[in-house]
Amino acid sequence: MPDHEPERPSWRCHCCAAPWPCDPARHQLAARMDRIALAVHMWERLDHAVGDLPAGPPTELFERFIRWTH
Ligand SMILES: [Zn+2]
Repeated sequence: MPDHEPERPSWRCHCCAAPWPCDPARHQLAARMDRIALAVHMWERLDHAVGDLPAGPPTELFERFIRWTH
């Protein structure tokens, strides 16, 4: 089974085409690292996504990338 990784610059999952991180990606990431490492990892991804995606509401990407790690 391929990993649920994001395509850039669309930030859709290249496996299931959902906005990344899709549910399977969240499960895979949470299984792979502890909560702190996960939060750091997702902040790094968020930083890249902010540069790739058109500007939207400031909370939108936070909700999508970070909120679920808490
Ligand atoms: Zn996916």
